[in-house]
Amino acid sequence: MTLTSLKRICWAILLAFWSLTITAQNEIKNFILMVPDGTSTAMLSVARWYQQYMDSTQSSLYIDPYICGLVTTFCSDAPIGDSAPTTSCYVTGQPSQKGYIATYPPKTDNDLVPIDATRAYQPLVTLFEAAKILNNKAVGLVVTCEFPHATPADCMAHTYNRAQMKNIAKQMVHNQVDVIMGGGVSYLTPELINVLKDKQYDVILNDLDAFKRSRSPRTWALFGDKDMPYDIDRDPSLMPSLAEMTHKALELLQQNENGFFLLVEGSKVDFAGHKNEAVRHITDFIAFDQAVKEAVDFAKKDGHTLVIMVPDHGNGGINLGNNNSDKNYAKLSLKQLYNNVGDKEYIGYTTKGHTGEDVFLGCYHPNKEQPSGVITNVELYNYLCNQLNMKGVTPSLTEKIFAKHQEVFHDMPYTIEPREDKTALLTVKYKGKTLTAESYTNYVTISQKKKKEVIELSSIIVYMDVNNTFYLPKDLRKLLE
Ligand SMILES: [Zn+2]
Repeated sequence: MTLTSLKRICWAILLAFWSLTITAQNEIKNFILMVPDGTSTAMLSVARWYQQYMDSTQSSLYIDPYICGLVTTFCSDAPIGDSAPTTSCYVTGQPSQKGYIATYPPKTDNDLVPIDATRAYQPLVTLFEAAKILNNKAVGLVVTCEFPHATPADCMAHTYNRAQMKNIAKQMVHNQVDVIMGGGVSYLTPELINVLKDKQYDVILNDLDAFKRSRSPRTWALFGDKDMPYDIDRDPSLMPSLAEMTHKALELLQQNENGFFLLVEGSKVDFAGHKNEAVRHITDFIAFDQAVKEAVDFAKKDGHTLVIMVPDHGNGGINLGNNNSDKNYAKLSLKQLYNNVGDKEYIGYTTKGHTGEDVFLGCYHPNKEQPSGVITNVELYNYLCNQLNMKGVTPSLTEKIFAKHQEVFHDMPYTIEPREDKTALLTVKYKGKTLTAESYTNYVTISQKKKKEVIELSSIIVYMDVNNTFYLPKDLRKLLE
């Protein structure tokens, strides 16, 4: 071998190694979606100045360096968003109506986007579900509201009515969310706890010590019957902060070698916004900001984690300055502005409802491939599909696992027994075999003569009472053929 050819081989090896490293560098393995629910854009300034008022050394928020643009967020038929359709849109790409959780809307006269009337009430697979089903990623939801509330439900459940929280809770249990931390003990019925325990979940209820000790990659830790207290009202000896839950969830989820998708919601920024309670409002956003630090610290160390920070819509229209500062706004010191903050002397609110302004967008990407400018909610979903290598994945999986029972079993006799609580049982009989499917579970039973077999699915079976339709996997009919 000549020296030149040896050199060539060395170069080839070096180049191959270099291109391998580049691929590995670009690959996003973990995704953290951080939603401060109902946070108007001016909250960034209101909270930053408040933090500085409380401690003069704290002049910036953790989120500040990552703000890269604005997102237009709306309902399919209204410019001002509701929590259910807004986060749904980030994770399914489909704008929808008030109350709709990852579900296609019916057509109206006010639609802002084209709506296909034939798809009304169709459950839509989310990026979180697809990551779990197709790539065996772990899924975590960390919130301060009750766990079947709109934003967490948007990632792992489907309904046209967000108020059906019992049925949403059932979906989230059977959808096998690996890690849930937040409020809502009262939604975890003994039956649901048994389902989790059968799957070797660590179920922790109102137990901070057990939460701290937990090492299980499948952990549900809930505190409080419904939502958790506002951060400022929280007893730290009884309940963890959003930042502590985020830290813990990351510790548990990273045990999955395939990676994870995690939602972190500052749920109660929205609650305080509705009440125009300035101190709770601002401090709950600051608690969210501390969770941002946990997520970004993890992502920087990990190198394969994308973090997106984005509210679902504005709320309250909070701002610094109100009618009391009409004449002296530029003369008010920081001390004067925040001196009666609880009485809202100079904190402005425009409404006790949601607001329709563009929301801020924050992004931590290991290679700084962040979106910029003003983008829509659908464009944010498209960006995520590109970055997470999931282009076209949620629509094709939707077709596969959420087919209408009338189509799947079109030539097989079936009955539906709807119940008052909006649950239902589907029974299909064909050639001596009987298939039964219970709404919001992840299994079907097949019985033939005296034999009965339970078949577990990788997805949940959704029932919509409004059109008396079950949505389930297309290939279930093969079990009867
Ligand atoms: Zn919301």
